[in-house]
Amino acid sequence: MIIVLRPDATKKQIDHIVFKVKKLGLKPWVSSGVERTIIGVIGEEDVLRSQPLEVFPGVEKVLSILKPYKLASRDFKKDDTIVDLGDDVKIGAKNLVVMAGPCSVENEKLLINIAKKVKSAGADILRGGAFKPRTSPYAFQGLGEKGLKYLAKAKKETGLKIVTELMDVRDIDMVSKYADIIQIGARNMQNFNLLKEVGKSKKPALLKRGMSSTVKEFLMSAEYILSEGNFNVILCERGIRTFEDATRFTFDINAIPLIKNLSHLPIIADPSHATGKWGLVGPCAKAAVAAGADGLMIEVHPNPEEALSDGEQSLWPENFAKLMDELEAVATAVGREI
Ligand code: PEP
Ligand code: MN
Repeated sequence: MIIVLRPDATKKQIDHIVFKVKKLGLKPWVSSGVERTIIGVIGEEDVLRSQPLEVFPGVEKVLSILKPYKLASRDFKKDDTIVDLGDDVKIGAKNLVVMAGPCSVENEKLLINIAKKVKSAGADILRGGAFKPRTSPYAFQGLGEKGLKYLAKAKKETGLKIVTELMDVRDIDMVSKYADIIQIGARNMQNFNLLKEVGKSKKPALLKRGMSSTVKEFLMSAEYILSEGNFNVILCERGIRTFEDATRFTFDINAIPLIKNLSHLPIIADPSHATGKWGLVGPCAKAAVAAGADGLMIEVHPNPEEALSDGEQSLWPENFAKLMDELEAVATAVGREI
């Protein structure tokens, strides 16, 4: 349920409504928009229906949100959410944000080399997994905290922000110490305990779409993080499973403008995992920007042949730099900057 306040509602009136809602055992979320403030109320709505909330001073109207995701919906918040990482890196604003780097953190020298190259090509954020969710238990599982330390070093040398995956609730404090954005991988999109912990942590979270998840399920997972109080959520379309097996996944480009309509949260695209083929990354990155994505996540490796994971979908640094140049015209065409 949403309580829409009058444009002239006072702080005292808002505080009083919040007090009343809490007294009923419900959770109020105050969202101050450009034009007016609204209060989202989460919990057993029947309790609220019995209260004549319309008569409270400052209230304009009370609406039901019919969608199962409430806080993630555009009904709750009309204005786009902008996730501000500081130092002018904002996700969801006019400027597109590019996260680039290797699939896995492999060693210090290689990571710093890639970080410098993606930075000079115009990336804002360095990606790299220290904990890797691999299909096979015998495949490289990541360097753990040692990998996080290399990411911290790369950040110090380049000024790039860091996004890295958290797989296990038990590692949240450790990963939070090094990451600017906690990545929740496709395989963990419905790990609800992990989502709740990230929701409590308040660290910006990059939530990747599960490979077999619908858009509704994807937004319900975002709702888990929001409902714990963390509104710094960035969504990521990374391809879904379909009958088509010529590519690793099928890039669901529809999801980008669809989610922009349904939700206020920023959404980026990951054409590397979506296609699984380096030659398709550039065209799909451009398509994502044209479709309204707020940024991109791209795997880059100086020697994809020898990469410990996802070499076949990694761009050489030179190709990444070329793509960054080419993206400028697409971004301009849709009123964005890169
Ligand atoms: C990754 O970003 O390296 C990754 C494992 O992605 P996903 O969870 O989308 O498969
Ligand atoms: Mn990968």
